[in-house]
Amino acid sequence: MEKKDVLRRIPGVDTLLQEPELKLLSRQMGKQTVTSVIREELEKVRKKIISCENPEEGEALLSGLRQQIRIQVEKKSHSSFQRVINAAGILLHTNLGRAPLGTRQIEAAYQAMTGYCNLEYELEEGKRGKRQSHYQKLICQVTGGEAAVAVNNNAAAVTLILAALARNREVVVSRGELVEIGGHFRIPEVMEESGSILRETGCTNRTRIEDYRKAVTENTAALLKVHTSNYKIVGFTESPSVEELASAGKEYHIPVIVDLGSGVLVNLEKFGLPHEPTVREMLEKGADIVCFSGDKLLGGPQAGIITGKKKYIEKIENHPLMRAMRLDKCTTAVLEATFREYLDEENAWENIPILKLIRRQKEELKIQAEEIKKALLESGFRGEIQVQEDTSMIGGGSLPGETLSDVAVSIKPEKESTEEFAARLRMQSVPVIVQIKNNRVFLHMRTVFAEEKEILTEMLKEALLSGGCL
Ligand SMILES: *Cc1c(COP(=O)(O)O)cnc(C)c1O
Repeated sequence: MEKKDVLRRIPGVDTLLQEPELKLLSRQMGKQTVTSVIREELEKVRKKIISCENPEEGEALLSGLRQQIRIQVEKKSHSSFQRVINAAGILLHTNLGRAPLGTRQIEAAYQAMTGYCNLEYELEEGKRGKRQSHYQKLICQVTGGEAAVAVNNNAAAVTLILAALARNREVVVSRGELVEIGGHFRIPEVMEESGSILRETGCTNRTRIEDYRKAVTENTAALLKVHTSNYKIVGFTESPSVEELASAGKEYHIPVIVDLGSGVLVNLEKFGLPHEPTVREMLEKGADIVCFSGDKLLGGPQAGIITGKKKYIEKIENHPLMRAMRLDKCTTAVLEATFREYLDEENAWENIPILKLIRRQKEELKIQAEEIKKALLESGFRGEIQVQEDTSMIGGGSLPGETLSDVAVSIKPEKESTEEFAARLRMQSVPVIVQIKNNRVFLHMRTVFAEEKEILTEMLKEALLSGGCL
């Protein structure tokens, strides 16, 4: 058979669509997707047949056509958003969605999304209610604030606070706290956007309360303290305490705002971490307004929580920007469920995944690591594999430089580079995200949930098998 005969045998789009198998496929995956894949594949086959050496090759391409269409359709229909296994050794990984949620938090979201709900409806009175009502009292109870409000994230919270309380007026900030958080959140730029005027004071390493006092003028609207959540200034350093700032604020009748970044509500020292100021402590020390993220150490949904003195919160709540930043029903429900856990600290440790991960004992992690190693060796793994002690980080702009003890499985496959192996792991049906260090792939156990052990082992086996190391 000649090349032109092979070309003549390429089926038409409509003919293919009429074949029972592809007909079924287009019913399942959508006719548009299947049609466009068929067009692309036909074009590819045509080009290949024209360029190939002999007609037999072309015939082989034609006979594999339907299989190829099926594979491509499946690839296209794969949802882009996927669950992954985080073995990278960072607990609050912004790129991996920060805090994972627990069963009770998810149940709240499910309830909110499935049918109608009382988002802005007062059941007792049968009239319009406020969406903030579901969490306001709870946040106050847990943090000690007089009032509270929540918006989409902490960046929005800072912007809203400044817009509501300091538009066209000056806000004093230490030069050591002009923070940039990942994703283009920079304090000077946020202030500009909010319409407030940055008044820097002090030096990068040392700022004293006198510096704040000197910077205050008639046009000062507030003193702002930003928690340096992703870097540390060490050595010859000084910054005033919140008490000192609060007393200066009182004197000048201006509020002290604290951007706490990660909203810690519990004591982390029990688990080998340094003392991280809690929201309650900040308020007790005299901060007028504190804001923090919902999805960092609080362990809740993405949100920005603002709490503190009622007279300021009311102004913030009534600002027109509030409408653009308000929470949806799903986040509202999860936020309520999250704060409900904190009514009892032990409940929080039990039910909030990020706290559960921090509390895991090294022995448990070690057992998990050994089991994975054993399973791989039993399946005939070829290469180097080791269980070793290591550390992981909190991440997500929390506790910079601090580590948690961890146990890792480190792997060096015999036949491929660690980069190739890591890439293969990312392409599994449940992608696995790892750390590459010392020319080895490190699987950190602290962030691999006990329930994920089996699936992680499966994914490792599949990746090793396709890389020829099993
Ligand atoms: C993380 C962080 C923010 C930004 O919070 P998002 O919830 O990510 O918007 C702002 N300020 C500080 C100090 C932070 O640590």
